[in-house]
Amino acid sequence: MTSTTTPPRSATTAVALSGVTKVYGRGPSAVLALDGVSLDVAPGEFVCLVGASGCGKSTLLNLVAGLDRPSGGQIGIAGDANPGLMFQEPALFPWLTVEANVEVPLKLRGLPRAERRERVAELLRTVHLAEFGRKRPHELSGGMRQRVALARTLALDTPVLLMDEPFGALDAMTRDILHDELERIWSERRLSVLFVTHNVREAARLADRIILLSSRPGRIIYSTEVDIPRPRRIDSPEVAAIAAEVTERLRTEVGRHGQ
Ligand code: ADP
Ligand code: MG
Repeated sequence: MTSTTTPPRSATTAVALSGVTKVYGRGPSAVLALDGVSLDVAPGEFVCLVGASGCGKSTLLNLVAGLDRPSGGQIGIAGDANPGLMFQEPALFPWLTVEANVEVPLKLRGLPRAERRERVAELLRTVHLAEFGRKRPHELSGGMRQRVALARTLALDTPVLLMDEPFGALDAMTRDILHDELERIWSERRLSVLFVTHNVREAARLADRIILLSSRPGRIIYSTEVDIPRPRRIDSPEVAAIAAEVTERLRTEVGRHGQ
């Protein structure tokens, strides 16, 4: 039986995947993108999912987000909450101001106007954009646009955040700053994060746990706890050591596929 609404196996799980399989298409051209992926994210845990391009990372995230249905297996989100989603592209409404963009989910949730204004101001302070509420997206840098996207996602007040290479298009310095911001917001709000990246260093910088997916079909082939104290630096020797270990596994995996 396939279901996306099954409750997680225990109350101490924020996201639960059990034997999740995804097949695209049918017949001889069918693609097995995910094969029997089981994974639990604990409340407040930061999990990074890494793997080579095309291994099924986005597929997995889209299934958890409910944008697509698994071909087999089960996915549960604690309390049936709708997770917040962030992509590499901020996907803001270009004709709306920063404030109005962040306000969209609050309107959809039916919050009264006065409360919306308060919440928007608070969210913009959280992402350090308090002075930019009246700007439009094209007036902002790429990093600032991703901050707006983050504020808009936080406006959902959901305990689960799904992020698909959210900083992949940013320069290294901007990414560094956003790592610090995300880490702060994650710990303040005790969010559960499932973060997809092909950047192993980024994973070692951010994650409590790194999960490595094999190339087609995507299967979990390696998992490691990252117990480096926070806040972390992406250029620290501890982060580099974890990144090297994961890269080695990844290299073996890619080599196995002869790519
Ligand atoms: P990743 O995010 O790790 O780069 P994806 O999840 O996007 O990988 O893709 C996994 C595999 O599934 C790839 O081989 C990709 O070509 C295939 N795929 C993804 N989406 C579709 C789709 N809508 N239809 C058919 N194949 C798809
Ligand atoms: Mg992807």
